Amino acid sequence: MSTPQLGEFELIRRFFADAATDDSVALGIGDDCALLVPKAGEVMAVSIDTLVEGTHFLPGSDPAYLASRLLGASVSDLAAMGAEPAWFTLALSLPQADPEWLGPFTTSLAQCAGAFGIRLVGGDTTRGPLTLTAQVHGFVPAEQALTRNGAQAGDLVCVTGTLGDSRAGLEELLAGKDADTPHAQYLAQRFFAPTPRLATGMALRGHARACIDISDGLLADLGHLLENGTLGAEIDPDSLPLSAALNASVDKTQAQQWALTGGEDFELCFTLPATKRDLLTTLPEPVTVVGTITEQSGIRVAGKPADVKGGYDHFAKDS
Ligand code: ADP
Ligand code: MG
Repeated sequence: MSTPQLGEFELIRRFFADAATDDSVALGIGDDCALLVPKAGEVMAVSIDTLVEGTHFLPGSDPAYLASRLLGASVSDLAAMGAEPAWFTLALSLPQADPEWLGPFTTSLAQCAGAFGIRLVGGDTTRGPLTLTAQVHGFVPAEQALTRNGAQAGDLVCVTGTLGDSRAGLEELLAGKDADTPHAQYLAQRFFAPTPRLATGMALRGHARACIDISDGLLADLGHLLENGTLGAEIDPDSLPLSAALNASVDKTQAQQWALTGGEDFELCFTLPATKRDLLTTLPEPVTVVGTITEQSGIRVAGKPADVKGGYDHFAKDS
């Protein structure tokens, strides 16, 4: 690499010190700690996510996309709790302090942070294999947080947006295809720049009985909403929301399969009492009813027991 390397302090000063702040940040980047002003009367939601080169993304991935994927996926966890984003910290392990990598990474990170309403307040920068970690913090009224527990038989199973796009985008990428059509670009964008459903999460406060964001696939994540009881769910595959881009790129069977098991869509899956169905038309983002919670345990798709595999377990014995 011919680009000059930066020292740690120069790197932090150049790329992170001017992060946008507001009154909730009494002291931002630059001291031993940030000093933050929590929201009175609400609980803080905290979540952390890591992307490791070679495990979560291919070597040579565009740094701008890594930033949008890292922050989009982390902030999606706040959306899934019904929390409003406040602050995040960023831990970077970098093989080298390369301004040509850091420039697009921090520009994209700042753009996403602005769009999600979250402020960078600190972090850590070390030399090592490329690893990106973001810890996000948000606020939600304690009684209104959307947790994974609480689904009841008869609840509607609902999802935001469309499903399966991210998987299709990843398949294109792995096949080495250029995203040279509008549909291909859309699918690639869905993989690299997930949209956390913050507005819907907040609108569901006090209404949804259970909520999760879809990181491992609808079946796997819906399974997490059923873990604490004997409940099950019945999913109607023909009701799954599929994008025009997905329908144009693969056949119906493949599209439905990816909608059920493809990961990283970062849409919300929530359950709602059937009596609250009218609420669905008032939500700020598109929502589709894809099934119902049943008294009979297990997930069925079109009446048949579903193969819930498709979720990814980093420590599974056969992986
Ligand atoms: P310390 O040695 O006290 O942990 P550092 O020298 O690591 O402090 O960091 C100096 C300041 O820069 C701190 O405020 C820290 O939060 C911030 N910082 C370091 N790395 C990052 C980063 N990747 N993103 C944002 N802020 C960072
Ligand atoms: Mg210190």
